[in-house]
Amino acid sequence: MAVTKTAVVTGGGSGIGKAIAERLTADGHQVAVLDLNPTGSFFGQKADVTDPDQVNGALDAVRQELGPVTILVNAAGLDGFNRFDRIDFAAWKRVIDVNLNGVYHCIQAALPDMVEAKWGRIVNISSSSAHSGQPFMAHYVAAKSAVNGLTKALALELGPRGITVNAVPPGFIDTPMLRGAEAKELLGGTVEDHIKRTPVRRVGRPEDIAAACSFLISEDAGYITGQILGVNGGRNT
Ligand code: NAP
Repeated sequence: MAVTKTAVVTGGGSGIGKAIAERLTADGHQVAVLDLNPTGSFFGQKADVTDPDQVNGALDAVRQELGPVTILVNAAGLDGFNRFDRIDFAAWKRVIDVNLNGVYHCIQAALPDMVEAKWGRIVNISSSSAHSGQPFMAHYVAAKSAVNGLTKALALELGPRGITVNAVPPGFIDTPMLRGAEAKELLGGTVEDHIKRTPVRRVGRPEDIAAACSFLISEDAGYITGQILGVNGGRNT
């Protein structure tokens, strides 16, 4: 039986983050959700990951209620679609702020607990678009690529302190984000069209990402760090 630990899942109010929060609860962890709109039966903290004061306040509340935070999954994210020459600097900065700086703030806030415990697990949810590129998403792809780079750098730095850092880049997962892009005709076809081009012939489920996170967080994965574990039905190899 695994020892109960406290996990924070950002973006846990919806889609992939919500499935991760449910899976980590089923794995026996105490789970707190940090989101603009925390939902579900978890210990919820309403916070914007781009605001370090809100993130630190939320982490303090989690610590007080559930104990030191030694598991952090960064799943909060914001997509954006536009031709590069129409992405103004405000839109560029917002997408970088949520997808990259938000990860920075959350890791900074949780790290002292992991260092103190000499054990920690950080999983960053990046994107398969960082592998393949994606037209009309230059800001998003840049931010998610940076998250993969941050993952590798931190893995080297934090490994000696007992902390592993890995990334899971999802590809084509059925969530409100994907369906929103489909509804706005930004996918280059429908989800059904894409299924025909996906080697495993189905759309991904949030639970597929949650399963990968569960493994990377487990004791069995203690020798795995700095890795980018694609979960994409074979769309990127
Ligand atoms: P989702 O259903 O839109 O969930 C994202 C969650 O993050 C939402 O609950 C959202 O809150 C929250 N969030 C957004 N901005 C935030 C902020 N500034 N502070 C705190 N929370 C914030 O999307 P998803 O598809 O599950 O995406 C989860 C992660 O996977 C994201 O990082 C996304 O980039 C990545 N991803 C998804 C896919 C896919 O195929 N679905 C592919 C590649 C990567 P609100 O709903 O209130 O805005």
